[in-house]
Amino acid sequence: MVLFVGAGPGDVELITIKGMKALQNADCVIYAGSLVNRKLIDEYCKEDVTVYNSANMNLDEVIDVMINMEQQKKSVVRLHTGDPSIYGAIREQMDRLIERKIEFDVIPGVSSFVAAASRLKEEFTLPSVSQTVIITRIPGRTGKGEGGHIEELAKHKASMAIFLSVQSINEVINKLKTSYNDNTPVAVVYKATWDDEKIIRGTIADIVEKVEEANITRFAQILVGDFMSDKYSLSKLYDKNFSHMYRNISDN
Ligand code: SAH
Repeated sequence: MVLFVGAGPGDVELITIKGMKALQNADCVIYAGSLVNRKLIDEYCKEDVTVYNSANMNLDEVIDVMINMEQQKKSVVRLHTGDPSIYGAIREQMDRLIERKIEFDVIPGVSSFVAAASRLKEEFTLPSVSQTVIITRIPGRTGKGEGGHIEELAKHKASMAIFLSVQSINEVINKLKTSYNDNTPVAVVYKATWDDEKIIRGTIADIVEKVEEANITRFAQILVGDFMSDKYSLSKLYDKNFSHMYRNISDN
């Protein structure tokens, strides 16, 4: 059995209980050394667990380890940063396992974009500001189709969480500028929930300079939108003049 497990953003307490139990039972863990907190393995795994760092492995090598462990009836955890369904490259691994008739399952995790919002103490969806969150990245090495067309997405003026792009913050901001005003809030959260986390707040106008000054070139979320400004309407859900399924005005 192979379990794809979301490690969460970094803090070892932000893995799910199911994910933690999977680590406790694992005979073998394959993890992305550069992004997953090693402490998860040190704290939760058995002492004799076999650990592979996927940073030095290609897809064939990862799958070979899984097959090999499966033949020995050993349990494998493939530990992915955040949630495995977001930029996790798990599909290609799952398809290989299906071909080999190896059973697998997926345990979700706390994605870094929600972890970043929690560190900022912000809410992505604010009444009369934005009810939509766009998750995207600038195109990567894998080709153009992979990245969002940020200028097009910016037209929605939605809340945005931009992954894998801080190394090109200048390019990102230039594209966002085509729709967002200069004073739209932007936050860059480096290593959200890790001990060396850094939070930079600014606007479309000044964030590039601030991020360059802080020398952040990897491992960060870029969050964009008026959801981080101070204007919004109160939620109808808790409005005392608004009744809904679970609460009747006359009850109050
Ligand atoms: N599956 C992961 C994303 C993997 S792609 C998730 O759900 O979060 C790797 C990118 O995710 C990084 O380049 C960075 O943009 C973002 N990221 C991952 N962990 C992060 C963290 N703790 N803080 C900020 N950004 C993070």
